[in-house]
Amino acid sequence: MKVLLVGGGGREHALARKLAASPLLETLWCAPGNAGIAAVAECLPIAAEDVPALVEFAVARGVDLVVVGPEAPLTLGLADRCREAGLRCFGPGAAAAQLEGSKTFTKEVADAAGVPTAAWARFTGSDDACRYIRERGAPVVVKADGLAAGKGVVVAATVEEAEAAARDMLDGGIHGAAGASVVIEECLIGEEVSFFALCDGEDAVPLAGAQDHKRVGDGDTGPNTGGMGAYSPAPAFTDALQDQVMARMIRPTLREMARRGTPFRGVLFAGLMLTAEGPKLIEYNVRFGDPECQTLMLRLQSDLLPVLLAASEGRLGEVQLDWSPDPAVVVVVAARGYPGAYVKNTVIGGLDAAAAVPGAVVFHAGTAPGPDGTVLSTGGRVLGVAATAPDLRAARDAAYRAVDALRWPEGFCRRDIGWRALG
Ligand code: ATP
Repeated sequence: MKVLLVGGGGREHALARKLAASPLLETLWCAPGNAGIAAVAECLPIAAEDVPALVEFAVARGVDLVVVGPEAPLTLGLADRCREAGLRCFGPGAAAAQLEGSKTFTKEVADAAGVPTAAWARFTGSDDACRYIRERGAPVVVKADGLAAGKGVVVAATVEEAEAAARDMLDGGIHGAAGASVVIEECLIGEEVSFFALCDGEDAVPLAGAQDHKRVGDGDTGPNTGGMGAYSPAPAFTDALQDQVMARMIRPTLREMARRGTPFRGVLFAGLMLTAEGPKLIEYNVRFGDPECQTLMLRLQSDLLPVLLAASEGRLGEVQLDWSPDPAVVVVVAARGYPGAYVKNTVIGGLDAAAAVPGAVVFHAGTAPGPDGTVLSTGGRVLGVAATAPDLRAARDAAYRAVDALRWPEGFCRRDIGWRALG
């Protein structure tokens, strides 16, 4: 089969590596890819958001399956355009991708489907928003309705902080159109877990739980990032909780999306809070998490290609997945300065030595081939150094041994990935 993978981060390297291992694969293209993906796929100079060029390429080459990694092309309608052109696509259409694009939409779907989530209200005027905040009291969460690159959520410890956040968004316009309406939510208390399920519009198959580390610094300090490391499974997320989330969240959400005429096909990523009253939904995303995907792909033993094909054709009912019992850990190595302005185009050494550590795999996120066979850093998050082992501690130790084999003085990582599970 001929597959076009869209994206160029660590998530896509993990998907590419897994797709490349499929006996069903004939050709794998990746747009735009990166230096690591280039080892297993032919990289194309097409941006992940260039929907017309991607569709044109896929039609011209007779691609059998388009797999979309990031959310941006999905919200731009890449999956819709593919299906209109007669192409199979793994990923939701733009209307279903609103589950990630709009917090109000997600809350409305959750309420209609009976999904447990924080109590909420939506406001476009700051006086009404502030009145509601005073009535509810603190702690309380204020969210810009649209996408604000992870910066649109304020978990406010006091009423004053919450009121200031609502006024900044509604009157100050600090998030532009994304903050023209705000969602004010009950503050949920508990441990956060990411859970992923494959969906085909009607059916869903559970993947696994994982835990991410969003802050840049050890001990969960410093600014938010795209994610500095992850592990899977998440010990706090038991099989019983997974069954509960499938029955009370994922399947009812799929039914509600189908009822609305916008069936969800792709990966549904549920951000969960494990509260004293059980798991509650914080948010949905419409694609794999990055870096969580790297840990899932290391643990998945089944051939990924026929599974994604089945999801795109509405045949997930036939699918059974096999998982390695071994946990996986990924440590993100970022360029100095990230998540602020960071250094670029520095040479990364020691990649082979890192990959030679038993159990370790180095995923590329922000890299490009440099002169004379070198690999250059081109992004903020540059590598995902991952490992599997019979237990989480051994997996983490192997990942850090691989990190320490790198020769890249311009890079840094958190040294405490896995602390929640390992203490
Ligand atoms: P953006 O839209 O700006 O990209 P996001 O989609 O990442 O942000 P959320 O996932 O909804 O936003 O929230 C970000 C973080 O804020 C969550 O991971 C969680 O830690 C915290 N959070 C969000 N909602 C709640 C809540 N109701 N109670 C407690 N914490 C919350």
